[in-house]
Amino acid sequence: MKLARSKWLTIAIIVSGLLSISDGSYANYWNGSRAAGANTNVYYDSSFASYGYTPHMDQARANWNSVGNSKVSFAHPLTTTGYGNLDKAYIGYHSFDTTTFAGTWHYSSSGSVIDNWSSNFDHASMIFYDNIFAANSFTYNQVVKTMTHELGHTIGLAHPTQTGYTADGDVTTAVPVGAFSVMYKGQLSYWVQTYDSSELKKKYP
Ligand SMILES: [Zn+2]
Repeated sequence: MKLARSKWLTIAIIVSGLLSISDGSYANYWNGSRAAGANTNVYYDSSFASYGYTPHMDQARANWNSVGNSKVSFAHPLTTTGYGNLDKAYIGYHSFDTTTFAGTWHYSSSGSVIDNWSSNFDHASMIFYDNIFAANSFTYNQVVKTMTHELGHTIGLAHPTQTGYTADGDVTTAVPVGAFSVMYKGQLSYWVQTYDSSELKKKYP
């Protein structure tokens, strides 16, 4: 019964997310800001424990939390009670392709999807697709990198342009020559880079 409810939720999030993919932005971080800054609370849906992904997300949060002087922290309350609109992370599945590993959506305080990356937002949700991780034989580190990347989206970091990757329309700024980013679209190569921490400090000075 619990699983069936999770699937419904997954479908609802996918439908909302498809509406937001084509929207544009003008920097390597989106112009929209979180109402409460970048100190977020990330609640793991019970699907995390069921599918064994709690350590992966713990490590992903630690990757960002260890960036010095960034004014960013990803906490992890074990309950939703008393936290208002916290961020939520889900494990799900889909069957529309084999290359969409995960997704992030921004919401208003009333729970509407914010599909313009230039608009302010209140909180975010992430979903990670267990069957796509499995189909691509993801290692532990590849899952952690994917989760680190999506956490970046929850605080407004965008995909930088990278030669050899198709820009998806939501960024126009290239990373400096020789720099790399955990925020490259579809990347499985990099952890949080100096470039990423510097973008973070620009967005949250
Ligand atoms: Zn992304």
